[in-house]
Amino acid sequence: MMRAVPDPFVARRLLRVGDAALARDPIASHGLVHAMRSGAQAAAAIATLLDPAGDDMAARAFIRARHTDATNAAHRSTAQAYADQSRYRGGFWPDTVSTRPAFQAHPTAPPDPTCRVRLLPLRRLPALDGGQIRWRKAIWLARSQRGAVQFGQLGAEYLAQALFPPASVAVQRARLERKIGTSAARALIDDLLSEGALVAEGTSPASQPSSAFARRTSAP
Ligand SMILES: Cc1cc2nc3c(=O)[nH]c(=O)nc-3n(C[C@H](O)[C@H](O)[C@H](O)COP(=O)(O)OP(=O)(O)OC[C@H]3O[C@@H](n4cnc5c(N)ncnc54)[C@H](O)[C@@H]3O)c2cc1C
Repeated sequence: MMRAVPDPFVARRLLRVGDAALARDPIASHGLVHAMRSGAQAAAAIATLLDPAGDDMAARAFIRARHTDATNAAHRSTAQAYADQSRYRGGFWPDTVSTRPAFQAHPTAPPDPTCRVRLLPLRRLPALDGGQIRWRKAIWLARSQRGAVQFGQLGAEYLAQALFPPASVAVQRARLERKIGTSAARALIDDLLSEGALVAEGTSPASQPSSAFARRTSAP
């Protein structure tokens, strides 16, 4: 069984973490990781909320977005765990296993390598920054349905400048090679392509995969 509250802030001054926010099926074996991660995120949010100069809106938006991420990930991993167990279905054990299909990720089809690609506009999202939550510019990773402000040593804003103007995939790789080397640049460009963050020029953000979650977490 898996149970998640719709909002970890159940009251203005009451924030649920761990199993109280999202109790995962023990079979998925992620409960302890979620308990520790959500506890650390809550500590940063509380530090922000208690600081008179802290950004209350950013802290609450951050906690809600991370809770949605965790809930979506829990649904996927639980479905996968149950599908894996369906291998053991048989005459002796017919009813105790799930027939739910395994979760299938749908990677974005890479654009033609000869066409020019561009990074989609950055989004303003709440992020952990120096022990508190602040609004930061992030690259939206459509396939993973989350924003990222840092890619190793490169920040999202640096990448937005480095990958502009639109250019072929080879040119985009070369732009990053000078900074992080050949293999890291190749891996990062491939990731951005498969995540749907780097798209063929002329592709509008509106035609990219999106969801209610993506709309909710995009900053005002
Ligand atoms: C059978 C089983 C197997 C599991 N196997 C795994 C696994 O293999 N891997 C994995 O990662 N996770 C596993 N889990 C899940 C994991 O144990 C939980 O996700 C994790 O312990 C949650 O941590 P928590 O701090 O949120 O809650 P808990 O660990 O439940 O801690 C809550 C604490 O609050 C206390 N408490 C409750 N009410 C009050 C109150 N009113 N006043 C004061 N104290 C109170 C409780 O006594 C408890 O000590 C399993 C769970 C079960 C049930």
